[in-house]
Amino acid sequence: MLKGRVALVTGASRGIGRAIALKLARHGAAVIVNYRGSPPAAQEVVSEIEAFNGEAVALGADVSKVEEVKKMIAEIKERFGRLDILVNNAGINEDSLLLRMKSEGWEKVINTNLTGTFNCTREALKLILKSDSGCIINISSVVGQIGNAGQCNYAAAKAGIIGFTRSLAREMAGRNVRVNAVAPGFIDTDMTAKLSQEVREKLLAQIPMGKLGSPEDVANAVLFLAQPSSGYITGQTINVDGGMVTQ
Ligand code: NAP
Repeated sequence: MLKGRVALVTGASRGIGRAIALKLARHGAAVIVNYRGSPPAAQEVVSEIEAFNGEAVALGADVSKVEEVKKMIAEIKERFGRLDILVNNAGINEDSLLLRMKSEGWEKVINTNLTGTFNCTREALKLILKSDSGCIINISSVVGQIGNAGQCNYAAAKAGIIGFTRSLAREMAGRNVRVNAVAPGFIDTDMTAKLSQEVREKLLAQIPMGKLGSPEDVANAVLFLAQPSSGYITGQTINVDGGMVTQ
């Protein structure tokens, strides 16, 4: 289904990004597994893909650093000569109530989640524009839609990603590049594993389906958007959140 296509998934060494990389590879795409601090974990994802005869390569780059992103895209151009799908998944949180939030904590979260999305998209677009059906999928969050106490930095970045997605979708609509977002709710990964039992219970009470989602649930939505059969969908945000946001 994605045979012949090349996909870059940022932050694919763990969690949701890992599941997305595996999913796209299973459906035939050659996948670039981007990571920042876990080369062995990224290499493991590559090995898993190669084990089912898929094609993958691990490339390190901190998405918040434009020079590193430029180098990664140049390497993709050299190795594959094309890029069709970009999934901006790399993200971090550093939670604190606003009155106690340090400027560094604000900047780190904005720089990774939002500026990282900008850096990768601007650099990758030069290649994606040459694809006959380019596709960009940005990972936002329900927190960017409904807010969450203690996450002003993260919510601002994730809401920014939705505005970015809508604007770029309009810019690219006539140029064969679709741009969409996926907004996960609470997904079982390292990011949510660090939550206390009390916070976890409060969160569960907000989820109509009464359970956390899995990385695979998010990867399924990304696959849906990446497929040529979604060719008339652009500028949208799909929630994968067990009903947390109903619209
Ligand atoms: P995770 O398990 O903490 O994994 C984060 C991934 O991002 C890792 O592969 C990490 O790579 C990578 N990363 C972090 N900073 C990076 C940087 N500067 N440059 C490149 N890669 C970087 O997180 P997750 O839960 O899978 O979250 C993935 C995405 O989904 C994030 O954007 C997150 O905000 C979003 N999301 C998650 C949830 C949830 O409930 N889990 C809900 C809504 C949205 P290294 O380990 O190699 O550093």
